[in-house]
Amino acid sequence: MSTVMLTSEYASLLAMEFGWNPVVNDEAAFDIYPPLPHPQSSTLPIRPPVVTIMGHVDHGKTTLLDTLRSASVAKGEAGGITQHIGAFSVPVPASGSGSEARTITFLDTPGHAAFSAMRARGASVTDIVVLVVAADDGIMPQTREVIDLINKEKVAVVVAINKIDKPGADTSKVENALLAAGMQLETFGGEIPSVNVSGLTGQGLDQLVETISALAEMQDLRAEREGPIHGYVIESKVQKGLGPVATVLVLRGCLKPSDQIIAGLTSGKVRLLHDSNGKPVKAAYPGMAITVSGWKELPNAGDEVLKGSESEIKKALANRARKADLEASLGGLEILNERRRQDRDQKEKEVAAAKAGEELEEVEKEDGPKELRLLIKADVSGSAEAVAGALQGIGNDIARTKIIATGVGDVTESDVMRAKSAEAVIVAFSVGVPRPVQSAAASQHVPWITSTIIYRLMDDVKAKVIELLPPIV
Ligand code: GDP
Repeated sequence: MSTVMLTSEYASLLAMEFGWNPVVNDEAAFDIYPPLPHPQSSTLPIRPPVVTIMGHVDHGKTTLLDTLRSASVAKGEAGGITQHIGAFSVPVPASGSGSEARTITFLDTPGHAAFSAMRARGASVTDIVVLVVAADDGIMPQTREVIDLINKEKVAVVVAINKIDKPGADTSKVENALLAAGMQLETFGGEIPSVNVSGLTGQGLDQLVETISALAEMQDLRAEREGPIHGYVIESKVQKGLGPVATVLVLRGCLKPSDQIIAGLTSGKVRLLHDSNGKPVKAAYPGMAITVSGWKELPNAGDEVLKGSESEIKKALANRARKADLEASLGGLEILNERRRQDRDQKEKEVAAAKAGEELEEVEKEDGPKELRLLIKADVSGSAEAVAGALQGIGNDIARTKIIATGVGDVTESDVMRAKSAEAVIVAFSVGVPRPVQSAAASQHVPWITSTIIYRLMDDVKAKVIELLPPIV
């Protein structure tokens, strides 16, 4: 059963359909604010882009982030001690036109986790993804995952071809492979910029920062620097002397000490704000990530952060707690059902194994021709019988088929157990063999054949029967 969230308008319409007279109880609203739209007005102030670095393991994400982070400290005000808070800002070198100082905010929580957790909640916190590909390794499985994600989410991307300092580095090979994977790089006349870098030596990093900044400029990212704040918890931990502390990425509005805030099921009054250099900050604006202390309890990464009056927050907390209780009880019910399902499956498996054991004994008792035992699964019982009819009796006096069971529906793990005990081959006609069942069959060494064409099944079965015949000498 899937859960459905209804707006009050829709719920009212539905109630009216049943002839009821609905009254919307605002007290039961789950949140203080309706979801904030992403303001696009060109009159709003520019905000820094939020960038996530992704790529295959060992391709150099951490090294790249470390080098960017320490370069940012060197270029920024001296004396700061970098702390890992899940995000940091890098200044963009002035373009010479006297334009306002710009920064880029890099998220340094493991790319995929941060990105996916928040996307799952419908939050788009990442404006640009930097896809790191090691020049000496090329496209690897996680590189492909990121490419799929980028295509699915339609997020802007900059490719960083890394480790160019290594002797085995072949950047054009990587570019060609990326093109083959559907990434239209600028080098080939496409739109995706790529930069050759070395996270280790720092080579090309200025160019990477400039490229990100140029892409952000094209996106024209703007947000209100006043009013209700909207942000996300990037990570959180209990810190000595400060209690629960969370890194909050502000997307809209302004966050200041003394603000009353709420995130998930917890709330607080902002005590102190610090940047990633550990420096106290008076106010946090869109695109900035800061650590926030003053929480009553530790909020969770991915929680939405909102500001409100004390009474609004109290009301919202009560409603969220009610909703959480409801979900927990539904979840409890689901767990109970799942346990029942597992118990039943286990019993079915045991029964199937016992039955198959009997079948095997029966089979083994017989002296006579060798047998290719078959367990048939088909889409409907009519076709199961048809397949059984077609496969029954294939062979001769030396080797022939024997149908041990027929059934309807996808192949299940209990079919595998049953086939295993009876040393049978599973024949699947117009039904699926789900992935976990395929792995179970592979690990139990149970062969299976599948087709939607009876003649093909007959051919496969004939071939298997022939294998049983003694070699001609
Ligand atoms: P991650 O798993 O993507 O975060 O990769 P790491 O940053 O941990 O790097 C994996 C290995 O590659 C480490 O041994 C790094 O020292 C090395 N490495 C990372 N970047 C470079 C680079 O630009 N050049 C060279 N030669 N080695 C690098």
